[in-house]
Amino acid sequence: MGQSTPQKARLMAEMTHRFVSQETEPLLRINDLHVHYDTADGAVRAVSGVNLTLHEGERLALVGESGCGKTTLALAIMRLLKPPARIVQGEIILDGRDLLKLNDEEMRLTRLQDVALVTQAAMNALNPVMRIEDQIIDGLQDHGYEESKASFRKRIYSLLEHVGLKSTVARMFPHELSGGMKQRVGMATATALQPKLIVADEPTSALDVVVQRQVMTTLGRLQKETGASVILVGHDMGLIAQFADRVGVMYAGKLVELSPVHQIVNKPMHPYADLLLQSVPSLEAKSERLVSIPGMPPRLINLPTGCSFAPRCPAAMPHCTTIEPALEPTVDGRFVACHLFSNTSTTIPTGNPAGNPAAEVDA
Ligand code: SF4
Repeated sequence: MGQSTPQKARLMAEMTHRFVSQETEPLLRINDLHVHYDTADGAVRAVSGVNLTLHEGERLALVGESGCGKTTLALAIMRLLKPPARIVQGEIILDGRDLLKLNDEEMRLTRLQDVALVTQAAMNALNPVMRIEDQIIDGLQDHGYEESKASFRKRIYSLLEHVGLKSTVARMFPHELSGGMKQRVGMATATALQPKLIVADEPTSALDVVVQRQVMTTLGRLQKETGASVILVGHDMGLIAQFADRVGVMYAGKLVELSPVHQIVNKPMHPYADLLLQSVPSLEAKSERLVSIPGMPPRLINLPTGCSFAPRCPAAMPHCTTIEPALEPTVDGRFVACHLFSNTSTTIPTGNPAGNPAAEVDA
């Protein structure tokens, strides 16, 4: 029996999306990115050889324990890292331009116009002594927009409305807003110039669960309306499962798995991704004990040889401690860095998958 028309339409849309995703140049391409924090004891390798692509309109979530490099990667894309952080090498190509080659003024103009950040702590991103409307106008004027106050206000009311806030918020100061409202103001500001890429760094971390869901719903709606791509840094797998198209799992500064969200949630490949998911509380299995990941993340100043996860991995094999697994594609288009799924038997140079075609991440 043939498929019904709506089913066929859905199938065609999915196939088109897949074709377009593979054939078009990605919006963002990160090549062999390394970020170090210089300390008296040596370099802390916060991001080590990350390769990543992101297509137009795609939602990618980066997950992992604290200190795995996900926020450093997000801030590197924004070029907002401050010393002792240092981008040691790599490329961050957004819409054909390598952000790492822009001068400070070019990068300042690129922020908000092409790439915008929604921060973890919205209060820290807002000026406490300026009204919300003046802060947004400040950003617009800084990018060359000259309009009457009335015209600016009209624009700001529309931005606020899109994030579910009343126009009266425009005349308020940050301290008059709740945490969720401040985060929405952050999203309104970030989308003021309709950037192609929104980087959201744990936008719900300081909020209660109900507000978290509202904020994520707002971010999802904004993404759909503007067609922007989103990189979401987070640790709440429940929220991420509902938001992301793909999930990148980071461990010790490296991507260890990159998979479509439904695949990673139903069947994680990397043992670390598996343990991360097992540590998520579930209402259905509330009588079961939560799994915690044994041990501690490694010191990024002195990474173990071979697989960085080996000291904590329940599936570790003898060669895991001597040979570092590269991020490789799997038969079903996922990427994983683990000897359990390795296609090659060759030794991979530690920490630098650059130039290795198997390490190119492009689903
Ligand atoms: Fe575990 Fe070995 Fe895979 Fe590392 S490479 S995650 S130690 S099985």
